[in-house]
Amino acid sequence: MTSIDVHALTKEYGARRAVDHATFRVLPGRVTGFLGPNGAGKSTTLRLLLGLDRPTSGTATIGGRPYTALPEPLRRVGALLDAGAAHGARTGRDHLRALAASNRLPARRVGEVLAETGLTPVAGHRVRTYSLGMRQRLGIAAALLGDPQVLILDEPSNGLDAEGIVWIRGLLRRLAGQGRTVLVSSHLMNETASFADHLVVLGRGRVLADTSLRAFIDAGVRPRVRVRTSDPAALRGALARHGLDAEEQAEGHWTVRGARVDDVGRLASESGVPLLELTAEEGTLEQAYLDLTAGEAEFAASSREA
Ligand code: ADP
Repeated sequence: MTSIDVHALTKEYGARRAVDHATFRVLPGRVTGFLGPNGAGKSTTLRLLLGLDRPTSGTATIGGRPYTALPEPLRRVGALLDAGAAHGARTGRDHLRALAASNRLPARRVGEVLAETGLTPVAGHRVRTYSLGMRQRLGIAAALLGDPQVLILDEPSNGLDAEGIVWIRGLLRRLAGQGRTVLVSSHLMNETASFADHLVVLGRGRVLADTSLRAFIDAGVRPRVRVRTSDPAALRGALARHGLDAEEQAEGHWTVRGARVDDVGRLASESGVPLLELTAEEGTLEQAYLDLTAGEAEFAASSREA
């Protein structure tokens, strides 16, 4: 059983800290979603993990060793980083054959991974004729070639159509079910929630959450109430006296987080606040994720620095 260990990992590019003392573990037998807004440092972390870049400080190891120290790394770790990596003039099958030969992997694996990724019908076509989704499948086929215990996939759903997205969910679940260690980056919460057991959320290079998906939902998805009133000042005052806060929405209504309609209805009536509308709103997973990463997106980071 092989786990991934990232410890106090830091990477600076000039004055910019892309990864900032990140510490987390990725365990076997489950799919870990690696989430964060664009620019959060996900790809940098994965590159450091795969020895494609050197950390400024800290460590990233797989089964206790840096990737570059692993014997026969393709048999241990399968990675998908950049789907554009295959040579366009080669056929999909030849690309995988060359990869198998240069890494001393059995040639029979080529047929197996082509079948697993649904590429058998186009295996004899040149890669340059492949759609983005087909290239993505070819990248995943290459990652699976060495039958590795550990899989590290950067945004594997990119370019996949609806059928491809359903397929990749099934594949990720199957790989984890076989006891493999599966780390999958994405910037989409709902997409990640459809296949992950565990989440590591990154924001501006820092780990913001390292939790099971279940616990993330329980802690983050809070009830909300949508309310409209002709006297916003009175509403805010009544809510504030009960430790609640109302946020004005562009459409002219107010959102009260962490409250139920019964609470808001009762305290509005007690305080004589006229209500025009009172509705329960389901908190969403996407909202919980946005709340967590609010202000952590790259544009927010640069405007804060400016
Ligand atoms: P993510 O994968 O979460 O979108 P990245 O790891 O690609 O984030 O980027 C994290 C930050 O590091 C960004 O601000 C990005 O601009 C910066 N960065 C990434 N790679 C380099 C590089 N080679 N040189 C300079 N800055 C980089």
